[in-house]
Amino acid sequence: MVPTGVRLRAPAPGWAIDADVVVVGSGVAGLTVALRCAAAGAKVTVVTKARLDDGSTRWAQGGIAAALGEGDTPAQHLDDTLVAGAGLCDEEAVRNLVTEGPDAVRRLIATGARFDTAPDTGEILLTREGGHHRRRIAHAGGDATGAEISRALVDAVRDAGIETIENALVLDLITDAAGRTAGVTLHVMGEGQRDGVGAVRARAVVLATGGMGQVFSATTNPAVSTGDGVALALRAGAEVSDLEFVQFHPTVLWLGPDAEGQQPLVSEAVRGEGAYLVDADGVRFMQGQHELAELAPRDIVAKAIMRRMREQGAEHMYLDGRHFGAEMWAHRFPTILAACRAHGIDPVTGTIPVAPAAHYASGGVRTDPRGHTTVPGLYACGEVACTGVHGANRLASNSLLEGLVFAERIAADIVARPAGPGAPVIPVPSRFPLLAPEARYEIQRVMTAGAGVLRSADSLDRAAAALRRIQHTAADDLERDGKTAEPCVETWEATNLLTVARVLVEAARRREETRGCHWREDRPDRDDAIWRRHLVVRLTPERTLAIHTTETAAFPPTATLPDPADTPGGASGTTQGAASGAAPGAATAPAAAAGAGQAPRPHGARAAGPASPEEIS
Ligand SMILES: Cc1cc2nc3c(=O)[nH]c(=O)nc-3n(C[C@H](O)[C@H](O)[C@H](O)COP(=O)(O)OP(=O)(O)OC[C@H]3O[C@@H](n4cnc5c(N)ncnc54)[C@H](O)[C@@H]3O)c2cc1C
Repeated sequence: MVPTGVRLRAPAPGWAIDADVVVVGSGVAGLTVALRCAAAGAKVTVVTKARLDDGSTRWAQGGIAAALGEGDTPAQHLDDTLVAGAGLCDEEAVRNLVTEGPDAVRRLIATGARFDTAPDTGEILLTREGGHHRRRIAHAGGDATGAEISRALVDAVRDAGIETIENALVLDLITDAAGRTAGVTLHVMGEGQRDGVGAVRARAVVLATGGMGQVFSATTNPAVSTGDGVALALRAGAEVSDLEFVQFHPTVLWLGPDAEGQQPLVSEAVRGEGAYLVDADGVRFMQGQHELAELAPRDIVAKAIMRRMREQGAEHMYLDGRHFGAEMWAHRFPTILAACRAHGIDPVTGTIPVAPAAHYASGGVRTDPRGHTTVPGLYACGEVACTGVHGANRLASNSLLEGLVFAERIAADIVARPAGPGAPVIPVPSRFPLLAPEARYEIQRVMTAGAGVLRSADSLDRAAAALRRIQHTAADDLERDGKTAEPCVETWEATNLLTVARVLVEAARRREETRGCHWREDRPDRDDAIWRRHLVVRLTPERTLAIHTTETAAFPPTATLPDPADTPGGASGTTQGAASGAAPGAATAPAAAAGAGQAPRPHGARAAGPASPEEIS
């Protein structure tokens, strides 16, 4: 059963509209789901927090990986992806990605995206990035791939007449009495027929809310990437997984020690074209560290940079691409050139100061190969999802591809399941406080200090204690004098950030090893015997965390309730036992982490310590 009352504090919905499918987010994932569902005749509403093109997709530089080149094969792409994922990729999910990827890219081109091609042959130009053993990254506008993909998808959505609601923050899931998805609540900013808090009722909800980079002080992610989808899914009772695996991009333009928020990325493709990293003494320190040197997987490069920074007491390293010359910089990397010059750095004549910053969430809302979360009718797609494709570390340029491929899978699943939920349950008012807007910056500082590239038990304990204090202060204010921050975008976002920060830190504390992009200084080795497993987290109705681990073979989750489309007679509003959706061979005995009313853990699941006794907002 979905926890009731576990939602953001907000006014009751004052208006409602109906759709078959509501898509939350308008990046590559959300817009692709919307287009494919609409093409099959479904009534789709896209809700997005800012403008349609606001999200990480627009900022993607390097490109999209797919085995499109001569001699390249999905099998080679699969191998590179598995290596980067450091033992935690779900091989079936990766196989789906790499085999369906090339055609998904061709369909994106048919939708209107224009990739860079060779002037003489018209063939798509392919570059290399870290961890890829072949040139397989298609790009557009030189280093403006995401902007072109976003343009093409936004145009297509407008041409298709799909309903879009911009400047609208989705708050929480609405369910029927049995806990099946029945829509979302949202807050529309601005004035008009639909302003303030309302509801979109729908039989399927697709979370495509992107990443959570804003949980750290320095990130490549835009301001909208506040982890709302993960926080919403947790409140709805869905499982999230692998949150500890945050990819820190090794080469982000260093803008000074106090720089905060979104920082310009210097794409891996710059290294792919031959730029190299040097330390403060001008020494190329990646040589001899990995066979691919500067093109080693991102975690290796980020760690090497951090180590060398520590050894030299430096705040950043340098990227040297002076040998490209002015013409190549202007033609191949116009966006990066402009960003550098805007900050007084000229890559044509000088080196570029770079340091790692939070870039990509490899974990997220746990999904099966068709994008189902553990809550029936709730799907997750793109960066918000944890499909098992990335394991402990994402291979460069696999994320746009993941958004495309799994969006098409989700759309196919949705249109094949016409049954709807029972009547939506009226939301009960939340008894939990909201955080003041300033808490956002406090959370970011705590996370960067304690759960950044360099982590240890001590740093993570300190982060956990600081986050708990932020939570308790808000709760105490509410209990003492009934005060809580006013519901508004800033307070909802800050509250969501705290939720994902607490889960991320809890997962990082428990994973007592170094693997992929999770680097524990106090546990420098990879421990396959104990930790070749995923940490899976759920919020209980009491708002404590239930945590278990599961083997990669058992990674695809099973809904905690049967989907109405799988039930003879469809949705009748009948309440099903929470255990009935368990995987074959599921362990039904209650385990240490499980409290009353919890779903059983699937085959291969293992408790990962007691439930966190703390209430999580
Ligand atoms: C600088 C940069 C460079 C990158 N380069 C590459 C690259 O070269 N290749 C590659 O494969 N990947 C790259 N990535 C990663 C890739 O861009 C993202 O993983 C991908 O675009 C995510 O797409 P998405 O559709 O899941 O989310 P996004 O594109 O981030 O879209 C999320 C959407 O959800 C909306 N949203 C969020 N919360 C809410 C809410 N509560 N209510 C309503 N709407 C909400 C946002 O407004 C936005 O529209 C890069 C990322 C960055 C930041």
